Amino acid sequence: MSIVVQKYGGSSVSSIEKIKNIAKNAIKRVNEGNKLVIVVSAMGDTTDDLLSMAKQISDNPDKRELDSLLSTGEIVSSSLLSMAIKSFGYDSISFNSFQIQLKTEGVHGKSLIDDLNEKIIIDNLNKNKVVVIAGFQGVNNKGDITTLGRGGSDTTAVALSVKLKGECEIYTDVDGIYSVDPRNYKSAKKIDKIDYEEILELASLGAQVMHSRSVELAQKYGTKIYVGQSLGEMNGTYIMEVKDMNLESKPVTGIATSDDDVALSIKNISNNQNIISSIFSEIGENNINVDMISQTTPIDNKINVSFTVPEGDLVECEQILLKHVKREDIIIDKSICKFSVVGIGMKSTSGVAAKVFKIFNENNIVIKMVTTSEIRITCAINKEDKIKAINLIAKEFNL
Ligand code: ADP
Ligand code: ASP
Ligand code: MG
Repeated sequence: MSIVVQKYGGSSVSSIEKIKNIAKNAIKRVNEGNKLVIVVSAMGDTTDDLLSMAKQISDNPDKRELDSLLSTGEIVSSSLLSMAIKSFGYDSISFNSFQIQLKTEGVHGKSLIDDLNEKIIIDNLNKNKVVVIAGFQGVNNKGDITTLGRGGSDTTAVALSVKLKGECEIYTDVDGIYSVDPRNYKSAKKIDKIDYEEILELASLGAQVMHSRSVELAQKYGTKIYVGQSLGEMNGTYIMEVKDMNLESKPVTGIATSDDDVALSIKNISNNQNIISSIFSEIGENNINVDMISQTTPIDNKINVSFTVPEGDLVECEQILLKHVKREDIIIDKSICKFSVVGIGMKSTSGVAAKVFKIFNENNIVIKMVTTSEIRITCAINKEDKIKAINLIAKEFNL
């Protein structure tokens, strides 16, 4: 009998009616002969609402207490779903992270999953119960509740699929993965199969549809993920190793954008690698993810360094910089949007960057920073140019 791990995101469990429908669907799957584990996110905007309450207490709420608070959202939805399944006459049990010993390491708010005890889940599946798990949360070695970072329930689901050797189905409010966020570009095309590498880049660069760490985990263990619309037809997207790329496949598979980063520039630093390496080491030690980095050529032995960090880490990052440089030498730019084009086809096709730069130039889109990898180009542009840039590039590459 096959084990299926399903995950329902916040919008899919945003009302009691929707939870009841998921319960009915679960029963259908059980009747078809599956053993079912369901991971749920918090209902609707619950996590945002909890966060906003914490922010009314303090700008920088205590991280341990914040994690305890945020984890409650998933406990509510998991209990309600289990209750709903039982109300329809089928057996079910819900578990939080303590109960399945989902151990995490790392810092509060972006903890990594270390391990979990699948035995209790298997025992309950063998008793013909639908097992419902509160996503997004874990317990660290001090016994404190931690969370995995926004969107982290996807990673809970993949971790469970790996441990239970089950199939993984992620249900959300879109019917699959598109070349561009369909909220930003109505003509975006749905992708039937996408390679781990490509969706990993897209997700890390802002395509919110998947938590990037869930893809990393799936790639590591070769877990195939289905992404589709909750309670919709099974015509979504498979995330897997795609070997049979068409010979003439497009150089660009998709676009991702992120409005959640800020650019920090430090002016007039003496070209002394000690200062720069101390700054970046300290930022790294504080688990702040630096993304784009650029440095000017030394003039009179002075350089300017710019880099981007997630907006949520700005306050902490600024405090670190102030230990090394003067306030007047720090420039903070909150107006940037990270705009990325991604495609495995770029490995074998040259000229993609040139085309992007030409189009931006012809349409007065200012590029503030650029980084590239073998399969992506990322430009920091102004937020106000985002939709224009998406339209132009999507048309150019037929996305
Ligand atoms: P959930 O609450 O189910 O986890 P999310 O809001 O985290 O859902 O992710 C789904 C959203 O991701 C969609 O509503 C869509 O706007 C957005 N999204 C961003 N990029 C893409 C993409 N390339 N394909 C599909 N959806 C995308
Ligand atoms: N509820 C959490 C969030 O909103 C986790 C998740 O949805 O995956 O980020
Ligand atoms: Mg999500």
